[in-house]
Amino acid sequence: SERTLVLVKPDGVQRGLVGEVISRIERKGLTLAALELRSVERAVAEQHYAEHDGKPFFESLLEFITGGAVVALVVEGPRAISAFRQLAGGTDPVDKATPGTIRGDFGLEVQYNLVHGSDSPESAEREIKIWFPNL
Ligand code: ATP
Repeated sequence: SERTLVLVKPDGVQRGLVGEVISRIERKGLTLAALELRSVERAVAEQHYAEHDGKPFFESLLEFITGGAVVALVVEGPRAISAFRQLAGGTDPVDKATPGTIRGDFGLEVQYNLVHGSDSPESAEREIKIWFPNL
């Protein structure tokens, strides 16, 4: 079994989609190992998105992620990393995510794409340490 770090980003929380996202995770057969509603300090956002430092959207991404509460989850199950990325859909909610996915069903703009999921076992380990250092 594998673990992945999932975020419901501020747009998802503000739009009342936390239950929808958790429901899809549970219906897929994945389980919740940790869950927290929290505000995001700039230092945590910078660490989480370190790979995007220097990109044109980096500053805007940090402002967005620190601009409201997020729900952070550790999701567990067989192939949890790929399984959640399948549920989320592609990064761009219109061009990449297909209907039936979280982003494809609820998103319109690439920055406001509702959820994050770790993209590899290395990222998952790194990100779980950032968001849940005691886990
Ligand atoms: P995440 O890492 O959040 O799961 P991802 O792996 O699908 O998303 P990345 O390419 O890692 O996508 O980008 C991280 C996040 O940065 C995206 O989820 C999105 O919120 C934002 N983002 C990506 N590309 C752009 C862009 N061109 N303009 C604005 N925001 C962007």
